[in-house]
Amino acid sequence: MGVSRRGATSQWKEQWTVLKLAETKTLGNTGNADDNTQAFGRSLDRGILERLDAGEVVVGDGGFLFCMEKRGYVKAGQWTPEVTVEHPEAVRQLHREFLRAGADVMQTFTFYASDSKLGNRGNTASDKIGCTEINQAACELAREVANEGDALVAGNISQTPSYMSGLGKEVVQKEFQQQIDIFVKNDVDFLIGELFFYVEEAEWAIEVMKATGKPVAMCMCVCTAGDMEEVPIDECAVRIAQAGADIIGVNCFWGPDVCLKAMAAIKEALEKAGLKRHLIVQPIGYKTPEFLDDSSNGEIKKGMSGLAEFPFALEPRVLTRFETQKYARDAYNMGIRYIGACCGMEPYHVRAIAEEAKERGKLPPASEKHGLWGYALRQHTYPWVRARARRSHWENLEPTSGRPFSTALRKIETQWADLSLSSKTMQQQKVQTTEEEVEQLAAKRSAVPIKAC
Ligand SMILES: [Zn+2]
Repeated sequence: MGVSRRGATSQWKEQWTVLKLAETKTLGNTGNADDNTQAFGRSLDRGILERLDAGEVVVGDGGFLFCMEKRGYVKAGQWTPEVTVEHPEAVRQLHREFLRAGADVMQTFTFYASDSKLGNRGNTASDKIGCTEINQAACELAREVANEGDALVAGNISQTPSYMSGLGKEVVQKEFQQQIDIFVKNDVDFLIGELFFYVEEAEWAIEVMKATGKPVAMCMCVCTAGDMEEVPIDECAVRIAQAGADIIGVNCFWGPDVCLKAMAAIKEALEKAGLKRHLIVQPIGYKTPEFLDDSSNGEIKKGMSGLAEFPFALEPRVLTRFETQKYARDAYNMGIRYIGACCGMEPYHVRAIAEEAKERGKLPPASEKHGLWGYALRQHTYPWVRARARRSHWENLEPTSGRPFSTALRKIETQWADLSLSSKTMQQQKVQTTEEEVEQLAAKRSAVPIKAC
């Protein structure tokens, strides 16, 4: 991946100037980033907390599982990352695309790489490859690509089937420890937890993460309705802060609007409790307006996984790059400085976040191939396309779906309400789900008509 760090910096600076000029001239937009254009050439020596303490925007990477699934390297259902061993070149390439898109963090592709998840419901990755090898390979790939740019490496852990099956603190923490030992051995820059449904499991994770002495980010998968055990979101926020997380927020399951609504509640709770922490948000790359109304029932906690389209037919909901810019700006205005992305966010979404984050005073390398706000369309052959080389066109566009029988919103399924551990709804098993079990589940599901509102 050709560009040296010095070369990339000067290219960024050059393009930033060109694009700022273009934006100013063509849009009458004076911009507000000029004060920051001297901020090039950041030091690689500063860790995540130094960057956030200095008020810098940290751009996260995107959703590896969904990206890799679409590329044919991860199996939906299992959602496990054995590809780090099976096809390391594919993981390396995706890291590079996120780096090129402006990501400041390379998360190790170790999501769901605990032994219990690698051996859940008929998955054989635990026996065939194993937790250690998958996590080690992921660390090497993330570091290799991070060193090609200005990125940090974050060791990633997530919810475990052991917790959902009620196996208790010792078993669950042992699983976290197994992954974290590998992260420490590889000297990752910080640790990040993702997709924690239950605040108790997040606390157990933080305890193990904190013991390493490395900075800890914790993303719970909660909305304003609270966690899966009915713990209110403000209590979740305070508890994970008190457990020791340095960076606190949410990831996955909902689009930007819903995640930012959750972040507002988290921010308020932390302020009320006098707990000063950095904020992180990583929404999915899909629109989920159904879940904005949290007054209806606990079903909104299932987020996109509760939509009939999940996971294979979500495409009509994909955010445009301009909607992604709006998300990044909204997050910034709320005081969130770690602005990231989750499932459905491809490298071009991350580029949109990085382009919007003008406060960084630089553009990502991938912006070489992207004029801000459609500017590059000035070079188009067709006049009707050149007519769209304007911010006002893209900023105000309401995209059509091309589906005349499609309606905008989906009725949320309402028959899986109790997701507490005692309900056993989330109980896991080693053997694969049988045909009969699928039939039973489908019968339960069809009791409620799935139709558009
Ligand atoms: Zn996700």
